[in-house]
Amino acid sequence: AAILEVDHLSKRYGSGTSALNDVSLDINEGEIVALLGPNGAGKTTLISIICGLVVPTSGTVRVGGHDIRTDWRAARKMIGLVPQEIALEPFEKVIDCVRYTRGLYGLPPDEAYVEQLLRSLALWDKREARTRELSGGMKRRVLIAKALSHRPKVLFLDEPTAGVDVTLRREMWTVVRELRAQGVTIILTTHYLEEAEDMADRIGVINHGQLLLMRPKSELMGEFGKKR
Ligand code: ADP
Ligand code: ADP
Repeated sequence: AAILEVDHLSKRYGSGTSALNDVSLDINEGEIVALLGPNGAGKTTLISIICGLVVPTSGTVRVGGHDIRTDWRAARKMIGLVPQEIALEPFEKVIDCVRYTRGLYGLPPDEAYVEQLLRSLALWDKREARTRELSGGMKRRVLIAKALSHRPKVLFLDEPTAGVDVTLRREMWTVVRELRAQGVTIILTTHYLEEAEDMADRIGVINHGQLLLMRPKSELMGEFGKKR
């Protein structure tokens, strides 16, 4: 069943920029989908609309059947977003970041879940560390832990490996696969074909605000003349 349904979505910013033009896509529960496209293609706009942060000019988005505009609260609960920018409170402890984010959703404390989450992201040993003491890779994992603090069904990763080195990139891929094994549906944006190939079940190509194609990885590899 489709956990995410995007229908005829368009966005024109006040500046006149047409950032998205009639984009439709369905994403099934448990899939990993990569949205591939160059800078300015419209990837962040698409994710921002789905997460309810930007209002579309036209079109609809449903998450788990909940319309993002008319049933925002229910839709938002099903979504976790890992933003591109690393924005953490430097003096906050790792474990408190996750507890605090749960609080923002109005959820009661759940120490067992917080522990499970931090362990699954290999952050448990660092739970008492201040975020400013962490390496770049660990900071990114804290952002993921925050995004998963309310147990969303769908996790968005906006350019999870932008500006990180090869080692860190591979570490992120491992984390993504582990999350999928736990049943989380994952949608990520990237401008690396290699990354899309390595991580995703399906790859969508976006350019100039249009979804040019959306195919299972196996089919796409054939089109690019590669065999795996
Ligand atoms: P909207 O119509 O959605 O309100 P606006 O065009 O008025 O969008 O811009 C909203 C904000 O985004 C403004 O603060 C603007 O400075 C900023 N902004 C404008 N152009 C860009 C851009 N290319 N990339 C990122 N932010 C931008
Ligand atoms: P991507 O994430 O693929 O780099 P974006 O969704 O950020 O693409 O941008 C798509 C287009 O919309 C670009 O032309 C960008 O400059 C423009 N844009 C993005 N955000 C805003 C904004 N807030 N206001 C005006 N224009 C924007």
